[in-house]
Amino acid sequence: MLRVVGAESLEDLAARTLPAAIAGADLSALPAPSTEAEAMAELRELSERNRWRVKSLIGLGYHNTHVPPVIQRNVLENPGWYTAYTPYQAEIAQGRLEALVNFQTAVADLTGLPVANASLLDEGTAAAEAVALAHAAHRGKGRVLLAAADLHPQTLAVVRTRAEPVGTEVKVVPPAEIADAAAGAEKPFAVLLQYPGTTGEARDLSPEIAAAHKAGALAIVCADPLSLCLLTPPGEMGADVVVGSTQRFGVPLGYGGPHAAYMAVKDAHKRLLPGRLVGVSRDAAGQPAMRLALQTREQHIRREKATSNICTAQVLLAVMAGMYAVWHGPEGLARIARRVRLQAGMLADAANRAGFALRHETFFDTVAIEAGGKADALVRAALGRGFNLRRVDAGCVAVSLDETVTREELSSLAAAIAEAAGASVADLSDLAPAPELPAALARRSPFLTAEVFNTHRSEHAMLRYLKRLEDRDVALNRSMIPLGSCTMKLNATAEMMPVTFPGFADVHPFAPPEQAEGYAELTRRLADWLCAVTGFAAVSLQPNAGSQGEYAGLLAIRAYHRARGEAGRDVCLIPSSAHGTNPASAVMAGMRVVVVACDRDGNVDVADLRAKAEQHSARLAALMVTYPSTHGVFEEGIREICALVHEHGGQVYMDGANMNAQVGLTSPAAIGADVCHLNLHKTFCIPHGGGGPGVGPIGVAAHLAPHLPNHPMHPGAGPETGYGPVSAAPFGSAGILPISYAYIRMMGAEGLTRATRVAILSANYVAKRLEGHYPVLYRGARGMVAHECILDCRGFQQGGGVTVEDIAKRLQDYGFHAPTMSWPVAGTLMVEPTESEPLAELDRFVDAMVAIRAEIRAIEQGRSDRADNPLKNAPHTAAEVMAEKWAHPYGREQAAFPLPFVRAHKYWPPVKRVDNVHGDRNLVCTCAPLEEYAQQAQLRAAE
Ligand SMILES: *Cc1c(COP(=O)(O)O)cnc(C)c1O
Repeated sequence: MLRVVGAESLEDLAARTLPAAIAGADLSALPAPSTEAEAMAELRELSERNRWRVKSLIGLGYHNTHVPPVIQRNVLENPGWYTAYTPYQAEIAQGRLEALVNFQTAVADLTGLPVANASLLDEGTAAAEAVALAHAAHRGKGRVLLAAADLHPQTLAVVRTRAEPVGTEVKVVPPAEIADAAAGAEKPFAVLLQYPGTTGEARDLSPEIAAAHKAGALAIVCADPLSLCLLTPPGEMGADVVVGSTQRFGVPLGYGGPHAAYMAVKDAHKRLLPGRLVGVSRDAAGQPAMRLALQTREQHIRREKATSNICTAQVLLAVMAGMYAVWHGPEGLARIARRVRLQAGMLADAANRAGFALRHETFFDTVAIEAGGKADALVRAALGRGFNLRRVDAGCVAVSLDETVTREELSSLAAAIAEAAGASVADLSDLAPAPELPAALARRSPFLTAEVFNTHRSEHAMLRYLKRLEDRDVALNRSMIPLGSCTMKLNATAEMMPVTFPGFADVHPFAPPEQAEGYAELTRRLADWLCAVTGFAAVSLQPNAGSQGEYAGLLAIRAYHRARGEAGRDVCLIPSSAHGTNPASAVMAGMRVVVVACDRDGNVDVADLRAKAEQHSARLAALMVTYPSTHGVFEEGIREICALVHEHGGQVYMDGANMNAQVGLTSPAAIGADVCHLNLHKTFCIPHGGGGPGVGPIGVAAHLAPHLPNHPMHPGAGPETGYGPVSAAPFGSAGILPISYAYIRMMGAEGLTRATRVAILSANYVAKRLEGHYPVLYRGARGMVAHECILDCRGFQQGGGVTVEDIAKRLQDYGFHAPTMSWPVAGTLMVEPTESEPLAELDRFVDAMVAIRAEIRAIEQGRSDRADNPLKNAPHTAAEVMAEKWAHPYGREQAAFPLPFVRAHKYWPPVKRVDNVHGDRNLVCTCAPLEEYAQQAQLRAAE
């Protein structure tokens, strides 16, 4: 490979790729590399330092759950699911798209609203997203948000963090006063409610929702999805938006995440829905096919007009939750819900018999016990028996039941109550269930009526359903996914294994800190290592996606300016080549976006930057810059660029999505940045999950360290001087941090540095081998690309009428996922081969691209039909190639087996090219219509 690119050694290549001025990184703080076995033993030991055997009945939106083993092994622990990319290439993603339609359908049914998205990051940020949606629905008018005092406290805290920079005032009102407050002088634009309330109360929300509507406000409800099997869904009470977490649908606690939050809306708001939405359309053969719907609506693509920055969400966890609904079906879920409520009722009776009053008489799973002076004793008695309860306030203790609680455990809890009260222990068989739900609260409407939720009732059926969907998709266990920007590197099996160690999986995010010492140590070490990698002084692991890191970092910059009495600094300079999340995050952080031009070589136009920095000097807050650039180049002028921004009083935010080109060779601190985020799901081996989970920690220089996020419920989560939480859980998606820990631990300083060098080598190798076939756009000063390269496909449009999309779809016939398409430059493909692809796989990819170039040439030279050729008809399905009739001027063999290696390991795309326009015109996002659609298509075919 070195010979092909014309370099003498990896060191020589790196020296010719990176500007000398920024070379150097100090990774001496990293421990020496370990073997896999050593890393596993170390992580096992850390996991056992968490007291996971204590069962947390703390609630607050996080509950123990049984991960159905058939889902744990075949989805969560299966690279066919967890290594897939976001389903932008719909034809090779039909499996996970179907799984996401299941998730959307389950959410829509349970909430009683027609449209649900394919997941959000967590319940707290989902509530904040709903508030932003309501504000956008009011066209930005209105300032006041009424928030019920019985929201989960972490939800309220996240909403407050998000409200302040955009000028929203959060008024917290006791539930009983919401209606009056809504009718008050200053009209709210939204009312935010919790259902059931955080201390367990289930009450009819109709009056509050009606009052909100009367005031012209939208009603947002945060709801527990399991409770909705028994309780009247908020949609039927008139709610406009319903959000929540599907964690208790079979997703481990993981000390706070990752879990799939959800959002469902009325039809009128579907175009404002943040996050991704899967819809049904048809393929080129008229068969139903799924794809991401309303892509132009996808918020971060709207850049500075966006009201949300969500990009990576929680697809893997949404798949799990949707499959939990498929596995249990409507009767199974209702049975689980009834059992949980039965146990809560019995425990309430035990409390009554022991002489304690209850805070609420109507509840689903949470019993709030007024223990008065005996509250301490109750918490202690429960802990002595192996349970964490929630201390609500001085005299009140809440217990949240869940599907894992056994009869014996219920007895034990009743005994703890009796002990605290000094009463005699009630026998379980004497305890009464909770009274019937009041009529207004009892759910009558059916849910999960679609066939998929009523079919897979044996484990064999379920196993095969999961396998069938998995086989429709291309993931990293099949072939290279040569995406640019979204580093799709190896997610080593050893790195994945600790995720399901019970000591990591079964810890509640609000368990007492002294029970989570393993996590404390893991997060401390990982943060230290990431400090070394970035060259920064402090790291926050709280943001649970890159977009959230951007937001958190910009808030740190904002807080820093304010602390220095420079609150007027609100201009954020962003190069035109930036990822869409950058401007979206800046707007959310209350900044004004000023776009900086790029020059012909794809670099930041320094003259334009200088002019704009001067023009906005007094108000300059920040520059957001991606390094190496989104064009795959180490810009020579980066230090000059950073210095220029500093001269005008601004701070430099570095988007760290391309860190895979930096680790060990240079660092954000070395280029002169003040803060950056890292995408642990790109550079640090957390798998992409088909579109999430992610983790987006931020590193900051010392002067910004006091301005990192923190968390009201965990003093160790950030500095006391911080601005509040940006995620619901203190350490965000802590449950997958062991993956990045294991990666760094096993690689050590030398391994990480070598990985970076080999990533650069791979990109230059692909560029070199393809440059005679496709023009390679943008190179550095010494002719090298960084860790990715951009192939220009615009020239084929004229000669052969071939578009970049045709090439992307044709690659599917060769068994490959397409590179990043038309970003950052329209009509191009961006390839990032990473360090972990073997040479043979790189060569197969190159051979496929060369063969496709020959197919294009045949069209250009008139040897192949302009309209009817393998590119325009790609991808080719088995049904089509094996049909009696074959009416194309090229052969079946060329269609399906264009190169010998394809024959050896054929992937059959399950559908032909998907029609996006049709799908957006006829938006269908749930299963039931999908089944009707399939039937209609069959009828049409029969005719
Ligand atoms: C992936 C990416 C982001 C956003 O990160 P998410 O984790 O998807 O939110 C931002 N900038 C760049 C350049 C990226 O590639």
